[in-house]
Amino acid sequence: MSAIPTRADLAALPAYVPGRTVPGAIKLASNEVPGGPLPSVAEAITRASREINRYPDMGAWALVERLASEFDVPTSQVAVGCGSVSLCQQFVQALCAPGDEVLFAWRSFEAYPIVTQVGNATPVRVPLTPSHTHDLDAMLAAITPKTRLVFVCNPNNPTGTAVRTEELTRFLDAVPSDVLVVLDEAYREFVTDPDVPDGMEFARTRPNVAALRTFSKAYGLAGLRVGYAVASEPVIEALRKVYVAFSVNALAQSAALASLDAKDELLARCAEIVGERTRVRDALLGMGYEVPETMANFVWLPLRERTAEFAEHALDHKIVVRPFAGEGVRVTIGTAEENDVFLEAARAYLA
Ligand SMILES: *Cc1c(COP(=O)(O)O)cnc(C)c1O
Repeated sequence: MSAIPTRADLAALPAYVPGRTVPGAIKLASNEVPGGPLPSVAEAITRASREINRYPDMGAWALVERLASEFDVPTSQVAVGCGSVSLCQQFVQALCAPGDEVLFAWRSFEAYPIVTQVGNATPVRVPLTPSHTHDLDAMLAAITPKTRLVFVCNPNNPTGTAVRTEELTRFLDAVPSDVLVVLDEAYREFVTDPDVPDGMEFARTRPNVAALRTFSKAYGLAGLRVGYAVASEPVIEALRKVYVAFSVNALAQSAALASLDAKDELLARCAEIVGERTRVRDALLGMGYEVPETMANFVWLPLRERTAEFAEHALDHKIVVRPFAGEGVRVTIGTAEENDVFLEAARAYLA
């Protein structure tokens, strides 16, 4: 029997490496929040589960309307997706012909090169600066007539660093009007510096800017898969055309709505994580580690050639971190107790 021929280029596709789950160990590897669903959200999921013999609302209209009113835009400027990863792929599919270029910083979110290649477009990676932040001038210089899409992950995963208003505005002013800039703000709710711009402001006022957010992180719904984008009407219309039918499921739609109802309570949890973030970073700095300033719910340790060794050491101490071979380790902020176990492991590593 001969094998079915599949796309030859799939062999060159980088694999998405999910954070490991190790039984009995503390998982600080996937930037999840430590708290489970609020009772009100769990209840909404239970209620919705009674009707899962029915297809979900295809357009997720209740959620789209709710988000539109949250952000003060028409519903024609809001799209939802099966996680914001799915929307990243939809952006490529909606904008790129084969061979078009998709630009992003590196290292950044590992889904970008994958969704780009799946969409038959060409990834162009622009190295971060030595201080682990986006090099927006270099990114601007890397734009060619083939560039259709630029991802700016703010704050950046995995380094936690954020670009500020002045530099981002200057960048957006200079990007050609036929290139879409997607501001991936998966960690927006953890941002505390008022000088880190709110991408929604740009998405509302500039036709070539989209803001991308998710319920997976601050809102604690990583397991349910729902994200959303705000952009100009033609962009949203195109995103909807490449949407996999019914992919935002009914439980996710209900849970997202209930989470927006419980926004204050969920954002209060984020404030606790932010407090822990400061404590963890200060402790690491005190031990002598290099830790870039972070605006997300994780810290980045650029350990370079010691990355794998550190990750193994952490695992010996029952902590699962996310190593990026040869570059560094990303550690999610957990509960105070979990963070203490991690800090103890980090201290022991130096001993
Ligand atoms: C976690 C993350 C996402 C969220 O993905 P979902 O598919 O919504 O779970 C998107 N972008 C970045 C940069 C992330 O780190």
